[in-house]
Amino acid sequence: MSVLASMLSSVLALACAADESVEATARRLVQEATTRSQAHAILTELCDGIGHRLSGSDNAARAVEWGAQICERVGADAVTKQAIKVPKWVRGEPEEFEILAPTHHRLIGLALGGSIATSAEGLVADVMVVSSFDELKARAAQAKGKIVLFDKAMGPQPDGRALGYGDVVPQRTQGAIEAAKAGAVGSLIRSVGTASYRLPHTGVMNYEDDVTKIPHAAIASEDADLIGRLIAAGHTVRVRMKMDCRDEGMAPSANVIAEIKGRERPDEIVVIGGHLDSWDVGQGALDDGVGIAACIEVIRLFSDLGLRPRRTLRVVLFMNEENGLAGGKAYAEANAGSLAKHVAAVEMDSGSFGFDGFGVTAGEGGLESLAPLARILDETIGAGQFTRGGGGADIGPMRVGGVPMLGMKNDSETYFRYHHTPADTVDKVVPADLAKCSAAMAALSWWLCESERPLPRVPPKSEGER
Ligand SMILES: [Zn+2]
Repeated sequence: MSVLASMLSSVLALACAADESVEATARRLVQEATTRSQAHAILTELCDGIGHRLSGSDNAARAVEWGAQICERVGADAVTKQAIKVPKWVRGEPEEFEILAPTHHRLIGLALGGSIATSAEGLVADVMVVSSFDELKARAAQAKGKIVLFDKAMGPQPDGRALGYGDVVPQRTQGAIEAAKAGAVGSLIRSVGTASYRLPHTGVMNYEDDVTKIPHAAIASEDADLIGRLIAAGHTVRVRMKMDCRDEGMAPSANVIAEIKGRERPDEIVVIGGHLDSWDVGQGALDDGVGIAACIEVIRLFSDLGLRPRRTLRVVLFMNEENGLAGGKAYAEANAGSLAKHVAAVEMDSGSFGFDGFGVTAGEGGLESLAPLARILDETIGAGQFTRGGGGADIGPMRVGGVPMLGMKNDSETYFRYHHTPADTVDKVVPADLAKCSAAMAALSWWLCESERPLPRVPPKSEGER
């Protein structure tokens, strides 16, 4: 063997050994995460010990303290709180919704986040049902003085299409604006969800400055059906809606930031995160307690296995994803100068059902470079589906800095049965599902922290990607 060849072969051997070691550690993390998972216990502390956590609420403030303490307890080197301002909206007294004519029915509903209240007596008007903004525009003459019910449903449609969350959610976010432009005095939506358990699904909504603000609420899908049937049968349906909600301006809050310092390149950062806030119904277990628990579990796993990554692992428990994204925006702004050193950001915010891999937004060759990790996750937990395109709302603002972004891929049909409802409680989270998500998050985190070459940066403007 020539000197050159022997040098080459020893360099190759070293490279292989390093690769094997990264792979072996990834497998060890998966093993520990799936056999001695603490993630569900962490989730239960958050959900039962605190409960739901709407931005600006006392519970959200308690969740920040809890988050900082538990990150320290499970082994983070350093924990800080990034002070931010968040919108504070308060639901007030429980809402009342009822059909007054042609006969009396109580309706199950929830005010949408950001809505104004009705008068103390409530708002009474006849209902007009539409299935799209286009239909509302075409029939705008009939909308004056009415309560508009937006009736588009998620899932399979009569024409064979299937509508996803993104197809339907504009009726929640923009419905009050469109209804008010047509002269309506209130608006309702069929809850945005995939199951009919007579559950109302809340969520964020918007107003426009120059459009009259009208009360906006979601009712259970069965109740939307009932109104639709009565109208189809030729009745005029009169509804009363009574809501006590109010906007209390901005309130102080924080992102929680916990680190395990890198051993060789501490200034290079891998961010993983979820959002600490939730809606003010249920326990915010699936949305997004599981993301918080999985990220904290990654710190626990690194610490318990004595793993110090080459780069710094930074766990961010973002605040205010649900109604403002103040945490995600503030993080990207405060770190604008170091985004070039952020080698990747990963978000878990799609529940924990049916995890099967990651969506990846990276430059040329990035997805392919993760193939060895995908193989490990496929072999160990059956979750090796890595596909193009992915990220998360909270890490989205880092996109401007070219930071490669990844998001978990989960079964969304089951997730949207409970999303933003009083039924998003800790019992819905299958411990083994959450352990799998945590295992994958830990293995991916290690991979991104260790890889000699980081993922290729995201081009400044790549088409068709968020
Ligand atoms: Zn969420």
